[in-house]
Amino acid sequence: MLPIGCSMRGLLILSVLLAAVFGKEDFTGHQVLRISAADEAQVQKVKELEDLEHLQLDFWRGPAQPGTPIDVRVPFPSLQAVKIFLEAHGIRYTTMIEDVQALLDEEQEQMFAFRAWARSSDTFNYATYHTLEEIYGFLDLLVAEHPQLVSKLQIGSSYEGRPIYVLKFSTGGSNRPAIWIDTGIHSREWVTQASGVWFAKKITQDYGQDSTLTAILDSMDIFLEIVTNPDGFAFTHSKNRMWRKTRSFTKGSFCVGADPNRNWDAGFGLPGASSNPCTETYHGKFANSEVEVKSIVDFVKNHGNIKAFISIHSYSQLLLYPYGYTVEAAPDQDELDQVAKSAVTALASLYGTKFKYGSIIKTIYQASGNTIDWTYSQGIKYSFTFELRDTGRYGFLLPASQIVPTAQETWLALRTIMEHTLNHPY
Ligand SMILES: [Zn+2]
Repeated sequence: MLPIGCSMRGLLILSVLLAAVFGKEDFTGHQVLRISAADEAQVQKVKELEDLEHLQLDFWRGPAQPGTPIDVRVPFPSLQAVKIFLEAHGIRYTTMIEDVQALLDEEQEQMFAFRAWARSSDTFNYATYHTLEEIYGFLDLLVAEHPQLVSKLQIGSSYEGRPIYVLKFSTGGSNRPAIWIDTGIHSREWVTQASGVWFAKKITQDYGQDSTLTAILDSMDIFLEIVTNPDGFAFTHSKNRMWRKTRSFTKGSFCVGADPNRNWDAGFGLPGASSNPCTETYHGKFANSEVEVKSIVDFVKNHGNIKAFISIHSYSQLLLYPYGYTVEAAPDQDELDQVAKSAVTALASLYGTKFKYGSIIKTIYQASGNTIDWTYSQGIKYSFTFELRDTGRYGFLLPASQIVPTAQETWLALRTIMEHTLNHPY
């Protein structure tokens, strides 16, 4: 046993050293707790915790209604205080992740073991996580292999100057009705960018083979933005795997970034977002202040013929439609609910993965300034948001072995929504 212990220790020391050299945030001893608030009073108590900035809590799933689980990453130095607080108020919790860093180390080892620069989209490894450079390399491979079907558009540049790319899948025509899909607007939701890569390949494989997708692409275009927050994504690789926001500077604050899913011009600044730049749901200085958001806004307005808009997040296994900022029902609620039901049924048919569906505000919590409330306000009826796997066992740290199954099942739901859009022109 001793040699194994020694080499484990050696590995640990090595990873700590490497982290120090490269300046990566270390999450040793951080735990993710699942809190079960039994009633409204307990929800309020957890919200008090949320306001204690010195604890540096990172709510993976924020407090909402009683009975809905709350997941929070607690840094090691705050663990005792948080557990004592919860116990003192009789609030139940369990430990979902014992040591966040242990999962991050596994993820890094897996990436390292599978790292290879692919020469074609056929040899690209879809079952591991990739860096921004690798994903951007993949885009070029796919375009080079399928120039008749796929092209790459640059719709803007990120705050730090990285190009923002969108793949366009089109079989011709001009300004055809279109479907938009984006992944990775929250950078730490790695299974979403990885799924986006898989969707891109799937579209090129299935066109001409799958009759549904072929019919869709014979009269509509598909736009796919895989890395919707490139600065945040690069930062999750280089410095802090748990980074969610953009990387913009806020005057008068030491805290960086805004939540690009609270920055849209629909109920902007209403309850359901934070005006504190140091929180994960900071809405930004003004609507569209984040260039990553503004680039999409300009694209959607200039295009003018987008009929379905699907923005993909993780985690929680949900399919959501407007609204997030108000309890008012969307005018198309009945139809959206039916489409969502069909989509989650298709999704579950592959591996039995269960998704809940409904409006954002009723299914998770109030979220103002979110993407699809804005797209819906622009007349894009089929506006949906996904929260992919899982329900919290791994949360944002979903093992790479689940990338392909997640993408495969999600594709069935996407295809259902796209097919409905094709068959219900408006
Ligand atoms: Zn998200």
